[in-house]
Amino acid sequence: MSRDSKYDILFEPVQIGPITTKNRFYQVPHCNGLGHARPRAEAANRRVKAEGGWGVICTQEVEIHPSSDVSPFLEGRLWDNLDIPQHRLMTDAVHESGALAGIELAYTGLHASNLYSRIAPMAPSDGMVYGNNPSQSREMTKRDIRNVRKWHVEAAKRSREAGYDIVYVYASHDLSVLQHFLKPQYNQRSDEYGGSIENRVRLTREILTDVKEAVGDTCAIAFRFAVDELRGPDGLQAECEGRDVIGLLAEIPDLWDVNISDWSNDSATARFEPNEGFQEPYTAFVKSMTSKPVVGVGRFTSADAMVSQIRRGILDLIGAARPSIADPYLPNKIDEGRIEDIRECIGCNICVAQDNLAAPIRCTQNPTQGEEWKRDWHPEKIQPATSNESVLVVGAGPAGLECAMQLANRGYEVTLAEAGDELGGRVSRESQLPGLSSYARVRDYRETQIVQKPNVQIYKGNRLSAEDIFKLEIPHVICATGSSWRRDGVGRHHAFAVDGIDAVAVLTPDDVMAGSEIGQRVLIYDDDHYYLGNTIAELCVQRGKQVCLVTPDSLISSWTEYTLEQEKVHARLSALGVEMITLHALQSVNAERASIASVYDANQARDIEYDSLIMITSRTPDNSVYTDLLAQENKFKTLIAIGDCEVPSTVAAAVYAGHLAARNLDSGEDFYAPLFRREMPGLD
Ligand code: ADP
Ligand code: SF4
Repeated sequence: MSRDSKYDILFEPVQIGPITTKNRFYQVPHCNGLGHARPRAEAANRRVKAEGGWGVICTQEVEIHPSSDVSPFLEGRLWDNLDIPQHRLMTDAVHESGALAGIELAYTGLHASNLYSRIAPMAPSDGMVYGNNPSQSREMTKRDIRNVRKWHVEAAKRSREAGYDIVYVYASHDLSVLQHFLKPQYNQRSDEYGGSIENRVRLTREILTDVKEAVGDTCAIAFRFAVDELRGPDGLQAECEGRDVIGLLAEIPDLWDVNISDWSNDSATARFEPNEGFQEPYTAFVKSMTSKPVVGVGRFTSADAMVSQIRRGILDLIGAARPSIADPYLPNKIDEGRIEDIRECIGCNICVAQDNLAAPIRCTQNPTQGEEWKRDWHPEKIQPATSNESVLVVGAGPAGLECAMQLANRGYEVTLAEAGDELGGRVSRESQLPGLSSYARVRDYRETQIVQKPNVQIYKGNRLSAEDIFKLEIPHVICATGSSWRRDGVGRHHAFAVDGIDAVAVLTPDDVMAGSEIGQRVLIYDDDHYYLGNTIAELCVQRGKQVCLVTPDSLISSWTEYTLEQEKVHARLSALGVEMITLHALQSVNAERASIASVYDANQARDIEYDSLIMITSRTPDNSVYTDLLAQENKFKTLIAIGDCEVPSTVAAAVYAGHLAARNLDSGEDFYAPLFRREMPGLD
């Protein structure tokens, strides 16, 4: 197949200063938690995207000096020449496929933890604080300003030596000293670097000019700038500083990379920004103020939406972080007329969560993400089958679907049995909840692939027992039968069933998603802390219920801090009128009321009356078929449980488990062999 001519415009080259891209697909800088500790993995991760057709591939933020050290997060590092060879790995990998390599030089200022370097962090003004960090930062002197300029120039020269084509100056995500200088909240200086916007932008102008002078003859200089912080007058606003900065610097950089700040707004989840191109209302004006090319993001996965951005004059280059993570081959698939093969990002921010946990990247849709070097996995290639034997996959949730698809890609004959009338398991159910419709993409991508494959037989409405499976005499059996939510309250807080709960007609998320009747006054007890507690609360409000959400944790949906959603979740529930009670656990329940008490003081107790009690605490694996089969394990060459049936976890973990099982089917008794590759620190 070849590409539809209406997409030709996406494959036009774009000149950026002294360089030219091969097309308009631009992987903007994004974190992947590999960075300076895992340079081979970093290079392999970016290589695959270059192979997949992206015209430009950028690093994550790269520390340019130890006084801006973001430990424990693993981003890039270019402190001195010792770091150059690591970067060479990445630029060589990217250049192999004819893509350009960009580096995002970052001086994080007051945001720097400096936990490794132990140098006092610096900010435009004294006494600035960041987050709940118990230390503060100090005001930069003129000497510090000269140094920050010098460090940018030195890093830019090293970047060129390392082979980069695009060098970034960075003022976004609230993570850069240059953005801090722009903000009156952080910049209260009375010298020529504070006060008016012309003064507050001075350091940025100087650094852009310095860097351009140093390497601008061969490298393009990009400026990444947050035009709005979505904080109204308490932050930078597109209508004020956004326009002013672009007006003042319009022709200085070779490329404008524009977005909204902070990271939670730039990488908004689908729950809070369901539409592609959601940044357009903020960034659309930029092109009218500069003749230089503009790149921007907006979780673009549809080729039509991308074309629209170009044709309407919003963007010149289609920026993508998450869409390139979910599908590193997105450009090639458009080029080859394989639109239905695109693995669309679902906007869940599991990738972001990994970075916030200082762990290597993972992706719900793309289980090979971060595993390119470690396990030699490729998102589009898999090793062929080693026999012509058949495999039975029981259960077609995320784990079973991924496993069946990849086994079929390897060439095995696959039978996929699903008890329900539709495929998808939990993502089919959960995608019905408010804001989670994109989760159905996990099913849709895999179902679309599987139905085209002659070597997969799908049996829906087929609940298999162990007896049924023995009769099939299939040598390899993979159980992906999922899990069920517990009714008894056992979870993180309660090790044993909640007092009195046996006598209550408790509802679980499974019941709610299956359409059970819910009473008028609802008490939701959330000891899961991810998205189900808050999405079910929202669903209940939509249905006109009065909702009280109780959690033993100190925050509502605390794990969503990692996905950058927690504040938005809390604000939404608050706006919906949900009563939220934190740091309280159930003491006892009966048919009408619950007694809840402070987790720190059982004497501080109160009663809450309800018509329905929804318990969201933990899950039990649905592994009875698997355990029955295990009794006669010797009848099978392979018998394993994967996904939630093995251990309840995220959708991302289930997809990964399905992928791992398909890759390792023929690995013998030691299923986890071979051990993955690790990067060992040099001992020179
Ligand atoms: P995971 O996230 O691990 O993929 P899910 O709960 O999403 O788990 O999916 C499990 C799927 O397995 C569900 O669609 C369920 O209907 C199906 N299933 C459970 N037991 C059986 C069985 N005995 N035979 C066939 N399908 C089953
Ligand atoms: Fe998209 Fe989720 Fe993958 Fe991140 S983890 S790229 S948000 S699908």
